[in-house]
Amino acid sequence: MDKLFSDLYKVGCDVRMFERLSCHTSMKIGGKVRYLVLPNDVVSLEKAVELLGRNIPFQIMGLGTNLLVQDEDLEIAVLKTERLNHVEIKGEKVVVESGTPLKRLCLVLMETELEGLEFAYGIPGSVGGAVYMNAGAYGKEIGEFVEAVEVLREGKRYWLSKSDLFFGYRDSVFRREKMIITRVEMRFRRGKKDLIKRRMDDFLEKRLEKQPIDLPSAGSVFKRPRNDFYVGKAIESLGLKGYTIGGAQISKKHAGFIVNIGNATFRDVIHLIDFVKKKVKERYGVDLETEVEIWWSGKRL
Ligand SMILES: Cc1cc2nc3c(=O)[nH]c(=O)nc-3n(C[C@H](O)[C@H](O)[C@H](O)COP(=O)(O)OP(=O)(O)OC[C@H]3O[C@@H](n4cnc5c(N)ncnc54)[C@H](O)[C@@H]3O)c2cc1C
Repeated sequence: MDKLFSDLYKVGCDVRMFERLSCHTSMKIGGKVRYLVLPNDVVSLEKAVELLGRNIPFQIMGLGTNLLVQDEDLEIAVLKTERLNHVEIKGEKVVVESGTPLKRLCLVLMETELEGLEFAYGIPGSVGGAVYMNAGAYGKEIGEFVEAVEVLREGKRYWLSKSDLFFGYRDSVFRREKMIITRVEMRFRRGKKDLIKRRMDDFLEKRLEKQPIDLPSAGSVFKRPRNDFYVGKAIESLGLKGYTIGGAQISKKHAGFIVNIGNATFRDVIHLIDFVKKKVKERYGVDLETEVEIWWSGKRL
Protein backbone atom coordinates (compact mmCIF):
# COMPACT_ATOMS: atom_id res chain seq x y z
CA MET A 1 0.00 0.00 0.00
CA ASP A 2 1.29 3.48 -0.89
CA LYS A 3 2.35 5.13 2.41
CA LEU A 4 1.07 8.64 1.62
CA PHE A 5 -2.24 7.19 0.48
CA SER A 6 -2.73 5.37 3.80
CA ASP A 7 -1.55 8.37 5.86
CA LEU A 8 -4.05 10.62 4.08
CA TYR A 9 -6.76 8.05 4.61
CA LYS A 10 -5.93 7.83 8.33
CA VAL A 11 -6.36 11.59 8.80
CA GLY A 12 -9.90 11.49 7.43
CA CYS A 13 -9.54 11.98 3.69
CA ASP A 14 -10.77 9.81 0.87
CA VAL A 15 -8.05 9.42 -1.71
CA ARG A 16 -8.05 8.29 -5.32
CA MET A 17 -4.81 7.52 -7.09
CA PHE A 18 -4.18 8.30 -10.77
CA GLU A 19 -7.53 10.03 -11.08
CA ARG A 20 -8.28 11.83 -14.34
CA LEU A 21 -9.01 15.52 -13.78
CA SER A 22 -11.19 15.50 -16.89
CA CYS A 23 -13.78 13.84 -14.61
CA HIS A 24 -13.56 16.81 -12.22
CA THR A 25 -13.49 19.84 -14.54
CA SER A 26 -16.53 21.35 -16.23
CA MET A 27 -14.43 21.62 -19.43
CA LYS A 28 -13.92 17.81 -19.33
CA ILE A 29 -10.19 18.22 -19.95
CA GLY A 30 -7.31 17.21 -17.68
CA GLY A 31 -4.82 14.37 -17.28
CA LYS A 32 -4.26 12.06 -14.33
CA VAL A 33 -2.89 13.26 -11.02
CA ARG A 34 -1.10 11.04 -8.55
CA TYR A 35 -3.55 11.71 -5.73
CA LEU A 36 -6.98 13.27 -5.68
CA VAL A 37 -7.65 14.00 -2.03
CA LEU A 38 -11.12 14.61 -0.63
CA PRO A 39 -10.94 15.82 2.98
CA ASN A 40 -14.12 15.13 4.93
CA ASP A 41 -13.81 18.22 7.14
CA VAL A 42 -11.60 21.22 7.80
CA VAL A 43 -9.42 19.36 10.32
CA SER A 44 -8.70 16.55 7.85
CA LEU A 45 -7.92 19.20 5.22
CA GLU A 46 -5.43 20.77 7.62
CA LYS A 47 -3.76 17.42 8.28
CA ALA A 48 -3.73 16.52 4.59
CA VAL A 49 -1.98 19.81 3.77
CA GLU A 50 0.69 19.03 6.35
CA LEU A 51 1.25 15.55 4.88
CA LEU A 52 1.23 16.69 1.28
CA GLY A 53 3.53 19.63 2.04
CA ARG A 54 6.21 17.17 3.11
CA ASN A 55 5.78 14.85 0.14
CA ILE A 56 4.43 16.27 -3.12
CA PRO A 57 3.39 19.56 -4.75
CA PHE A 58 -0.36 20.10 -4.60
CA GLN A 59 -3.13 22.29 -5.94
CA ILE A 60 -6.50 23.16 -4.52
CA MET A 61 -9.71 22.65 -6.46
CA GLY A 62 -13.29 23.62 -5.73
CA LEU A 63 -15.73 22.32 -8.33
CA GLY A 64 -13.37 22.72 -11.29
CA THR A 65 -15.61 25.12 -13.23
CA ASN A 66 -13.04 27.82 -13.91
CA LEU A 67 -10.14 25.56 -14.82
CA LEU A 68 -8.27 24.50 -17.92
CA VAL A 69 -5.89 21.66 -17.05
CA GLN A 70 -3.19 20.06 -19.22
CA ASP A 71 -3.88 16.57 -20.64
CA GLU A 72 -0.53 15.07 -19.70
CA ASP A 73 -0.33 13.33 -16.34
CA LEU A 74 0.80 15.52 -13.47
CA GLU A 75 3.01 14.37 -10.63
CA ILE A 76 0.99 16.36 -8.12
CA ALA A 77 -1.87 15.94 -5.67
CA VAL A 78 -5.13 17.83 -5.95
CA LEU A 79 -7.10 18.68 -2.83
CA LYS A 80 -10.76 18.95 -3.71
CA THR A 81 -12.92 20.80 -1.22
CA GLU A 82 -16.34 19.48 -2.25
CA ARG A 83 -17.02 17.79 1.09
CA LEU A 84 -16.50 20.98 3.11
CA ASN A 85 -20.05 22.13 2.69
CA HIS A 86 -21.41 23.12 6.08
CA VAL A 87 -23.53 26.29 6.21
CA GLU A 88 -24.20 28.02 9.52
CA ILE A 89 -26.70 30.88 9.78
CA LYS A 90 -26.65 33.30 12.71
CA GLY A 91 -29.23 35.99 12.02
CA GLU A 92 -27.99 37.95 9.01
CA LYS A 93 -24.51 36.46 9.26
CA VAL A 94 -23.63 33.27 7.40
CA VAL A 95 -20.51 31.17 7.88
CA VAL A 96 -20.05 28.76 5.01
CA GLU A 97 -17.38 26.16 4.27
CA SER A 98 -15.44 26.74 1.09
CA GLY A 99 -16.53 23.64 -0.84
CA THR A 100 -20.22 24.53 -0.64
CA PRO A 101 -21.73 24.91 -4.12
CA LEU A 102 -22.96 28.47 -4.74
CA LYS A 103 -26.22 27.02 -5.93
CA ARG A 104 -26.81 25.28 -2.60
CA LEU A 105 -25.89 28.42 -0.65
CA CYS A 106 -28.38 30.43 -2.73
CA LEU A 107 -31.13 27.93 -1.94
CA VAL A 108 -30.34 27.99 1.80
CA LEU A 109 -30.39 31.82 1.76
CA MET A 110 -33.73 31.82 -0.02
CA GLU A 111 -35.21 29.45 2.58
CA THR A 112 -33.89 31.66 5.40
CA GLU A 113 -35.13 34.80 3.65
CA LEU A 114 -31.73 36.44 3.25
CA GLU A 115 -31.26 38.39 0.03
CA GLY A 116 -28.35 39.58 -2.09
CA LEU A 117 -26.74 36.50 -3.64
CA GLU A 118 -29.47 35.75 -6.20
CA PHE A 119 -27.16 36.80 -9.08
CA ALA A 120 -24.91 33.82 -8.26
CA TYR A 121 -27.65 31.24 -8.66
CA GLY A 122 -26.50 29.27 -11.69
CA ILE A 123 -22.77 29.98 -11.33
CA PRO A 124 -21.66 26.35 -11.12
CA GLY A 125 -18.66 26.75 -8.75
CA SER A 126 -17.98 26.54 -5.03
CA VAL A 127 -17.90 29.39 -2.53
CA GLY A 128 -14.09 29.06 -2.21
CA GLY A 129 -13.60 29.24 -5.99
CA ALA A 130 -15.96 32.21 -6.17
CA VAL A 131 -14.14 34.12 -3.43
CA TYR A 132 -10.78 33.26 -5.02
CA MET A 133 -11.72 35.10 -8.21
CA ASN A 134 -14.46 37.39 -6.86
CA ALA A 135 -17.04 35.77 -9.09
CA GLY A 136 -19.76 38.03 -10.36
CA ALA A 137 -22.63 38.47 -12.74
CA TYR A 138 -25.28 41.03 -13.65
CA GLY A 139 -23.39 43.89 -11.98
CA LYS A 140 -22.81 42.14 -8.63
CA GLU A 141 -19.80 40.37 -7.13
CA ILE A 142 -19.52 37.91 -4.26
CA GLY A 143 -16.91 40.11 -2.55
CA GLU A 144 -19.63 42.66 -1.72
CA PHE A 145 -21.10 40.22 0.79
CA VAL A 146 -17.89 38.81 2.29
CA GLU A 147 -16.88 40.10 5.72
CA ALA A 148 -14.01 37.75 6.54
CA VAL A 149 -12.30 34.63 5.21
CA GLU A 150 -10.71 31.86 7.23
CA VAL A 151 -7.54 30.62 5.54
CA LEU A 152 -4.99 27.90 5.99
CA ARG A 153 -1.52 29.17 5.31
CA GLU A 154 1.88 27.80 6.29
CA GLY A 155 0.29 25.34 8.71
CA LYS A 156 -1.86 27.94 10.51
CA ARG A 157 -5.57 28.58 10.27
CA TYR A 158 -6.75 32.15 10.91
CA TRP A 159 -9.28 34.76 9.75
CA LEU A 160 -8.50 37.56 7.31
CA SER A 161 -10.73 40.61 7.51
CA LYS A 162 -12.25 42.31 4.48
CA SER A 163 -9.48 44.91 4.22
CA ASP A 164 -6.95 42.07 3.70
CA LEU A 165 -8.84 40.55 0.79
CA PHE A 166 -8.32 43.22 -1.91
CA PHE A 167 -11.35 42.32 -3.97
CA GLY A 168 -11.32 43.76 -7.48
CA TYR A 169 -12.84 42.83 -10.80
CA ARG A 170 -12.37 39.01 -10.93
CA ASP A 171 -9.54 39.50 -8.50
CA SER A 172 -8.60 39.07 -4.85
CA VAL A 173 -5.51 38.53 -2.73
CA PHE A 174 -5.93 34.77 -3.33
CA ARG A 175 -4.90 35.11 -6.97
CA ARG A 176 -1.49 36.34 -5.81
CA GLU A 177 -0.79 34.62 -2.50
CA LYS A 178 -1.09 30.89 -1.98
CA MET A 179 -3.63 30.27 0.78
CA ILE A 180 -6.41 27.78 1.17
CA ILE A 181 -9.83 29.25 1.86
CA THR A 182 -11.55 27.09 4.48
CA ARG A 183 -14.55 29.20 5.60
CA VAL A 184 -16.18 32.41 4.51
CA GLU A 185 -18.20 34.77 6.66
CA MET A 186 -20.83 36.71 4.76
CA ARG A 187 -23.60 39.12 5.64
CA PHE A 188 -26.94 39.54 3.86
CA ARG A 189 -30.07 41.64 4.25
CA ARG A 190 -33.44 40.31 5.29
CA GLY A 191 -35.72 39.72 2.31
CA LYS A 192 -38.90 37.98 1.27
CA LYS A 193 -38.71 34.40 0.07
CA ASP A 194 -41.04 34.81 -2.92
CA LEU A 195 -39.13 37.88 -4.20
CA ILE A 196 -35.77 36.19 -3.70
CA LYS A 197 -37.01 33.13 -5.57
CA ARG A 198 -38.34 35.25 -8.42
CA ARG A 199 -34.99 37.03 -8.82
CA MET A 200 -33.11 33.71 -8.74
CA ASP A 201 -35.41 32.27 -11.39
CA ASP A 202 -35.01 35.38 -13.56
CA PHE A 203 -31.22 35.25 -13.40
CA LEU A 204 -31.24 31.54 -14.18
CA GLU A 205 -33.57 32.12 -17.12
CA LYS A 206 -31.14 34.71 -18.54
CA ARG A 207 -28.27 32.23 -18.23
CA LEU A 208 -30.19 29.44 -19.94
CA GLU A 209 -31.06 31.82 -22.76
CA LYS A 210 -27.56 33.27 -23.31
CA GLN A 211 -25.02 30.66 -22.20
CA PRO A 212 -24.10 27.34 -23.82
CA ILE A 213 -24.70 25.33 -20.68
CA ASP A 214 -25.52 22.21 -22.70
CA LEU A 215 -21.83 21.82 -23.61
CA PRO A 216 -18.71 21.51 -21.42
CA SER A 217 -17.02 24.87 -20.82
CA ALA A 218 -15.25 26.83 -18.10
CA GLY A 219 -17.52 29.87 -18.38
CA SER A 220 -16.30 33.16 -19.85
CA VAL A 221 -12.77 32.62 -21.09
CA PHE A 222 -11.59 36.23 -20.95
CA LYS A 223 -11.85 39.06 -18.47
CA ARG A 224 -13.52 42.24 -19.63
CA PRO A 225 -10.54 44.53 -20.32
CA ARG A 226 -12.56 47.73 -19.71
CA ASN A 227 -16.12 48.52 -18.68
CA ASP A 228 -17.13 49.52 -22.21
CA PHE A 229 -15.52 46.56 -24.03
CA TYR A 230 -17.70 43.46 -24.34
CA VAL A 231 -15.45 40.55 -25.23
CA GLY A 232 -18.22 38.25 -26.50
CA LYS A 233 -19.58 40.94 -28.83
CA ALA A 234 -16.07 41.80 -30.08
CA ILE A 235 -15.32 38.15 -30.90
CA GLU A 236 -18.70 37.80 -32.58
CA SER A 237 -18.06 40.92 -34.69
CA LEU A 238 -14.93 39.22 -36.03
CA GLY A 239 -17.12 36.43 -37.41
CA LEU A 240 -15.59 33.89 -35.07
CA LYS A 241 -18.73 32.33 -33.57
CA GLY A 242 -18.44 28.61 -34.26
CA TYR A 243 -14.73 28.85 -35.16
CA THR A 244 -13.23 25.48 -34.25
CA ILE A 245 -9.77 24.08 -33.56
CA GLY A 246 -9.83 20.30 -32.99
CA GLY A 247 -12.58 19.74 -30.43
CA ALA A 248 -12.56 23.30 -29.08
CA GLN A 249 -15.08 25.74 -30.47
CA ILE A 250 -16.03 29.37 -29.93
CA SER A 251 -19.58 28.89 -28.78
CA LYS A 252 -22.22 29.50 -31.43
CA LYS A 253 -24.46 30.78 -28.64
CA HIS A 254 -22.10 33.12 -26.75
CA ALA A 255 -18.75 34.04 -28.31
CA GLY A 256 -17.17 34.68 -24.89
CA PHE A 257 -17.28 30.93 -24.17
CA ILE A 258 -15.09 28.17 -25.57
CA VAL A 259 -16.92 24.84 -25.56
CA ASN A 260 -15.66 21.30 -25.80
CA ILE A 261 -17.60 19.79 -28.67
CA GLY A 262 -15.97 16.37 -28.27
CA ASN A 263 -12.53 15.24 -27.18
CA ALA A 264 -11.03 18.74 -27.13
CA THR A 265 -7.44 18.71 -25.91
CA PHE A 266 -5.70 21.23 -23.69
CA ARG A 267 -3.72 22.38 -26.71
CA ASP A 268 -6.85 22.82 -28.88
CA VAL A 269 -8.19 25.24 -26.27
CA ILE A 270 -4.87 27.06 -25.81
CA HIS A 271 -4.49 27.48 -29.58
CA LEU A 272 -8.02 28.84 -29.82
CA ILE A 273 -7.39 31.27 -26.93
CA ASP A 274 -4.17 32.49 -28.59
CA PHE A 275 -5.95 32.84 -31.94
CA VAL A 276 -8.75 34.94 -30.42
CA LYS A 277 -6.26 37.12 -28.52
CA LYS A 278 -4.33 37.77 -31.76
CA LYS A 279 -7.47 38.64 -33.76
CA VAL A 280 -8.85 40.96 -31.05
CA LYS A 281 -5.49 42.69 -30.72
CA GLU A 282 -5.24 43.18 -34.52
CA ARG A 283 -8.78 44.53 -34.87
CA TYR A 284 -9.31 46.46 -31.62
CA GLY A 285 -5.78 46.96 -30.25
CA VAL A 286 -6.93 45.36 -26.99
CA ASP A 287 -4.94 42.78 -25.01
CA LEU A 288 -7.22 40.09 -23.61
CA GLU A 289 -6.40 38.35 -20.36
CA THR A 290 -7.84 34.95 -19.46
CA GLU A 291 -10.40 34.67 -16.68
CA VAL A 292 -10.06 30.87 -16.61
CA GLU A 293 -7.22 29.50 -14.51
CA ILE A 294 -4.72 27.44 -16.47
CA TRP A 295 -2.88 24.53 -14.83
CA TRP A 296 0.15 23.54 -16.79
CA SER A 297 2.90 21.23 -15.45
CA GLY A 298 1.19 21.41 -12.10
CA LYS A 299 1.63 25.17 -11.92
CA ARG A 300 -0.63 28.09 -12.57
CA LEU A 301 0.50 29.90 -15.71
C1 LIG B 1 -21.48 27.56 -17.53
C2 LIG B 1 -20.62 28.41 -16.63
C3 LIG B 1 -21.05 29.66 -16.25
C4 LIG B 1 -20.26 30.47 -15.42
N1 LIG B 1 -20.72 31.71 -15.08
C5 LIG B 1 -19.95 32.50 -14.30
C6 LIG B 1 -20.41 33.82 -13.94
O1 LIG B 1 -21.50 34.26 -14.28
N2 LIG B 1 -19.57 34.58 -13.18
C7 LIG B 1 -18.36 34.14 -12.75
O2 LIG B 1 -17.66 34.89 -12.05
N3 LIG B 1 -17.92 32.91 -13.07
C8 LIG B 1 -18.67 32.08 -13.83
N4 LIG B 1 -18.21 30.82 -14.16
C9 LIG B 1 -16.88 30.38 -13.72
C10 LIG B 1 -16.88 29.60 -12.39
O3 LIG B 1 -18.06 28.87 -12.18
C11 LIG B 1 -16.68 30.53 -11.20
O4 LIG B 1 -15.49 31.25 -11.37
C12 LIG B 1 -16.58 29.76 -9.89
O5 LIG B 1 -16.58 30.68 -8.84
C13 LIG B 1 -15.34 28.87 -9.78
O6 LIG B 1 -15.49 28.05 -8.63
P1 LIG B 1 -14.90 26.58 -8.60
O7 LIG B 1 -15.19 26.01 -7.26
O8 LIG B 1 -15.37 25.79 -9.74
O9 LIG B 1 -13.34 26.89 -8.74
P2 LIG B 1 -12.26 25.95 -9.44
O10 LIG B 1 -12.46 25.98 -10.91
O11 LIG B 1 -12.22 24.63 -8.79
O12 LIG B 1 -10.92 26.74 -9.08
C14 LIG B 1 -10.66 28.01 -9.65
C15 LIG B 1 -9.46 28.61 -8.91
O13 LIG B 1 -9.84 28.85 -7.56
C16 LIG B 1 -8.93 28.24 -6.67
N5 LIG B 1 -9.67 27.74 -5.51
C17 LIG B 1 -10.83 27.02 -5.51
N6 LIG B 1 -11.21 26.76 -4.25
C18 LIG B 1 -10.28 27.32 -3.45
C19 LIG B 1 -10.09 27.36 -2.03
N7 LIG B 1 -10.94 26.79 -1.18
N8 LIG B 1 -9.01 28.02 -1.55
C20 LIG B 1 -8.12 28.61 -2.38
N9 LIG B 1 -8.23 28.58 -3.72
C21 LIG B 1 -9.29 27.94 -4.25
C22 LIG B 1 -8.32 27.07 -7.46
O14 LIG B 1 -7.04 26.71 -6.97
C23 LIG B 1 -8.26 27.65 -8.86
O15 LIG B 1 -7.07 28.38 -9.01
C24 LIG B 1 -19.00 29.99 -14.97
C25 LIG B 1 -18.57 28.72 -15.34
C26 LIG B 1 -19.37 27.93 -16.17
C27 LIG B 1 -18.88 26.55 -16.55
